[in-house]
Amino acid sequence: MPPPGAMPPPGAMPPPAMPPPAMPPGVGLPPDPAAPKPKRGLLVGLVIILVLVLVAVPAFLVFGGRDGDEPATAATAAPTATTPATREAAGPAASPKPGDPPHVKFGWAKARIYESLADMSKAFRAGDLNGFLAPVADKKLRAELERRFRSLRAIKATALELTADSGPFDDKLVGGYSEWGVTVAIKHCFVVARCEPDKMLVDTAWRDSKDGYRLVKFSLVRDVRGPQPWEVSTLTAAVGTRAIVAAPKALQGRARAFLPAAERAAKIADRYVLGRKPDRYLIYLAGPSDWKKWFGGTEDWAIGFAVPASAERSDIVLRAAEIDGGYAESIMKHEMGHVATLAGRDYRDYNGENWWLTEGIAEYVEWDGRPVSAYDRKLTTRRLVRANLFTGNLEKLVPENDAPEWQIDAAYGVGYYTTRCIADQYGHEKLMRFADQVLRNGRPSEAESPTILGRDWKDVSKRCLAYTKQKVGA
Ligand SMILES: [Zn+2]
Repeated sequence: MPPPGAMPPPGAMPPPAMPPPAMPPGVGLPPDPAAPKPKRGLLVGLVIILVLVLVAVPAFLVFGGRDGDEPATAATAAPTATTPATREAAGPAASPKPGDPPHVKFGWAKARIYESLADMSKAFRAGDLNGFLAPVADKKLRAELERRFRSLRAIKATALELTADSGPFDDKLVGGYSEWGVTVAIKHCFVVARCEPDKMLVDTAWRDSKDGYRLVKFSLVRDVRGPQPWEVSTLTAAVGTRAIVAAPKALQGRARAFLPAAERAAKIADRYVLGRKPDRYLIYLAGPSDWKKWFGGTEDWAIGFAVPASAERSDIVLRAAEIDGGYAESIMKHEMGHVATLAGRDYRDYNGENWWLTEGIAEYVEWDGRPVSAYDRKLTTRRLVRANLFTGNLEKLVPENDAPEWQIDAAYGVGYYTTRCIADQYGHEKLMRFADQVLRNGRPSEAESPTILGRDWKDVSKRCLAYTKQKVGA
């Protein structure tokens, strides 16, 4: 199995005994021609969304089972009297006293914790670091939350809200004080004051103290692929009208230099959005250590990838050291093509029968209406077709992981030509509707083809095979 959504740069590995494809000098070539290395972009981990949902559910179940179990003696002697119960506007939770039933203690903890989350949200929006850190218990956690604060502010997270998604639950005693877990939802927009925010979930813990409930744990965003860049790196950012290029301080200058290309790529990708248009496309520019860390890292040979950062959004990571300015724009168009067409979908088939369309449409966005005759994977595609290595079975197009570079390159080419064929033969608008149904709604091509394209899928495939052969001169 190949790396999911692997994108070799056109012509990075030209097939032997064939002239290299026409492309601007230096674009897509490995930095060290003596040690050529495949450079590809990835589309990764879209299955995560499903996992997140499954992980999130049990959190709701915990409290119900634990509430009544709490011994009354667990009501601590914390001097809660210093916090007036009257702070609750409606139905103030009473400050618990020894001997109070569990629900009183629970209600009190819940009110205090929710209040702290609201205060932190307000402080973030006001740019008030000290206010944001006010409930944080110790130095180490303060440093971690300061990093999140600074990075999220830098990448222009706006309208940020921390709210309890579930909890409190799992009450336990630590050093004589009660400690509660709360699953917190982080919601925010980018740059704009209002949006339909998506949410990311973190696990937090709050421990009672003589000063009230203190934040003692704030996990990474639940994500099987690893941390979001803003959780583990202090970021700076160059912010445009459609894109944000974020980077650690050492790459601040490069982030600024990347922004114009990101803006151009974003304006193209915008024209292909299926579903919700992103507030901004977010591109993280990674140094060598960031590359290993962010979103759990990825294959060594890759130079960039698109990854779901939440249930509604996908972000892009680029490896700064491996991308020159010219190639950056191409790869960003391709990756933003994935973001524009797939973000927000529980997309589980990126290595399956629709691989051709997933990658084909990203290539289609990257090529953006330029003449099909100039397409830069033409030679490898011609070679594949001439060698009878592709005879029309699109559902089996996804290349094997150990396939030669030129064959991987050519598989992207077949995806592109077929996608372009549908646009040329049936119209761009119908292609986009077809992609929406097949990629985002999980509908079979066979079912959608007659309705949207007006032809059986078999006929369309056949026609597009002929189109591909003709365009590549096979
Ligand atoms: Zn791709």
